[in-house]
Amino acid sequence: MKMEMAIMAMMLFGGMTGLGQEGLEKDVLKTSAGDLEITFVGHGSLLLAFGGKTLHVDPYSRLTDYTKLPKAELVLITHDHPDHLDAAALRIVQTSNTVVVLPPICAERVTGGTVMTNGEVRTMLGIKVEAVPAYNLVHKRDSGRVFHPKGEGNGYVLTFGDKRIYVAGDTENTPEMKLLQQIDCAFLPMNLPYTMTPEMVADAARVFKPKILYPYHFGDTDPAKLKELLAGTPDVEVRIRRMK
Ligand code: ZN
Ligand code: ZN
Repeated sequence: MKMEMAIMAMMLFGGMTGLGQEGLEKDVLKTSAGDLEITFVGHGSLLLAFGGKTLHVDPYSRLTDYTKLPKAELVLITHDHPDHLDAAALRIVQTSNTVVVLPPICAERVTGGTVMTNGEVRTMLGIKVEAVPAYNLVHKRDSGRVFHPKGEGNGYVLTFGDKRIYVAGDTENTPEMKLLQQIDCAFLPMNLPYTMTPEMVADAARVFKPKILYPYHFGDTDPAKLKELLAGTPDVEVRIRRMK
């Protein structure tokens, strides 16, 4: 709530410097094929703009007014939890031409989606998309079932020109994550108890070494803790944005 009020205040008082649409923070990453603009919608949701195309990752209507954001050429859905698969947000960002990529578990709730299973690779709209398993190793519900069972959710590695961007989805520091190669920019979740502790994020980052690491979907976990843990790993730059 505090974050939303801060954004509202900035919108009202015109302090838009460094901010993109709807007062949301934005970073620009240079690639060999032009700029990739990353807008930090919040929580697990991102808006990417590249080569005149708009990509939404897990659009979630509680975070912002999606009617004010551009429609999507490509939507990536990581899994079926309501803050990731939100039919209302999807309806708003979709056109009749939008490609919606999702894991099988989401397919029955979204008609016309493009299903990708863990490990599958496809090129869509000139963007290579790799589906990476996203699951828990240790964090469980009281019932004993993990929050995110293996095989249900996807993270995605997206290639834009010469840059590889990894959006992990709701996952822990899995062996598959640690095997990723040449990741320029990674979004790793720290929302507890559902995903990773800062220690688990740091553990994975020390192995696969993303050049830029954005903690995202971090809930009440303090992202500064991750900076401390990776202080001795200078080849990983931790960037903290409003991705609570
Ligand atoms: Zn989830
Ligand atoms: Zn989540």
